[in-house]
Amino acid sequence: MKAIAVHPGQPGSIHLAELPEPRIEQIEDGRGVLARVLRVGVDATDREINDGEYGEAPRGSEFLVLGHESFCQVEAVGPAVTEIAPGDYVVFTVRRPGTSIYDRMGLQDMTTDETYFERGISRLHGYLTERVADHVDFAVKVPPTLERVGVLLEPTSVVEKAIRQAYKIQERLGVWRPRRAIVLGAGTLGLLATMALRVRGLEVVTFARSPRSTPNAGMVEAVGARYVSAKEQSLKQAALALGNVDLIVEATGFSPLVFEGMERLGKNGVLVLTGIAAGDRQADAVHADHILQGFVLGNKIVVGSVNASRADFEQGVSDLAMAEALWPGWLARLLTHRVQGLERHEEMIRLLTESKDAIKIVVEIHPGGAGA
Ligand code: BGC
Ligand code: ZN
Repeated sequence: MKAIAVHPGQPGSIHLAELPEPRIEQIEDGRGVLARVLRVGVDATDREINDGEYGEAPRGSEFLVLGHESFCQVEAVGPAVTEIAPGDYVVFTVRRPGTSIYDRMGLQDMTTDETYFERGISRLHGYLTERVADHVDFAVKVPPTLERVGVLLEPTSVVEKAIRQAYKIQERLGVWRPRRAIVLGAGTLGLLATMALRVRGLEVVTFARSPRSTPNAGMVEAVGARYVSAKEQSLKQAALALGNVDLIVEATGFSPLVFEGMERLGKNGVLVLTGIAAGDRQADAVHADHILQGFVLGNKIVVGSVNASRADFEQGVSDLAMAEALWPGWLARLLTHRVQGLERHEEMIRLLTESKDAIKIVVEIHPGGAGA
């Protein structure tokens, strides 16, 4: 079967590769799930891997199959699988266990191992292919009502983990009732974070680079948040207008903004970082004294968050369903570009590299679902 692959470390190496059909018998304990890949979302990570900046091939393979944002339909399950049946829609998680204690507890997103295993990114083939087989523990069921937008579950899970980390950490306070949040960035993750915080009833300001005329600004407003363009207002002005900032979710990867975020965080606040900066940028004009004093006198926290656990995918299903009910059609508006078929991998990369108005680019593999 066909797959979109790269030679990691070799810029621009995207190509069509041939993979053997996966077999359910290969999955241990009779707990396998064989699924047809309906569609796969792509993001900056895929672009960076094709640019040769990131990613690693599985041991013994000269290529890596891309794609970590899956949406699939189950074709067959192993004899010991009771929780999922043929016909069900599933999204597979990304990271697989290594050896640390966290991995052994099913929290591989918290691994302390130096090397980590992520499908489509690091040492494991991804989902940009026709069919996949994996252990049912890594398959998250998605209701048919989310068929159109379920491909957003993986990026949603990243946001869910970030928010859950904040709530977990704030258990230190005995009671934490966050009311005001700032989301930094209005790309896919920024928009999904805005949505998830609005679902929880927070007042949200989403701060991003683009002018107010960008469609993303309209999407922020459609879920009842406020869009502030850095072209019109500084983060300082936006934060002062909002009041005590309880939570900031960073989703830009623009590292200098981290220090501004630290400066603007309110008392007892949490700043969660999700951007993965690939460069070696240095920040200037960091108000270090101000940050230190504010952090100490205000008991503030900054925390990094990568990947997601199974619980975060499950929370993502719930929030996506809430979003569909509260703002019908909003999630589908994130799916701005569709690439028809694995053969169009050049178009996929071109959109990832050049398209200014893309929010989520999706590769349609078996678009019709059942029988297609
Ligand atoms: C993926 C995460 C992954 C991270 C680091 C992101 O693009 O969505 O699942 O953990 O890259 O590789
Ligand atoms: Zn990603």
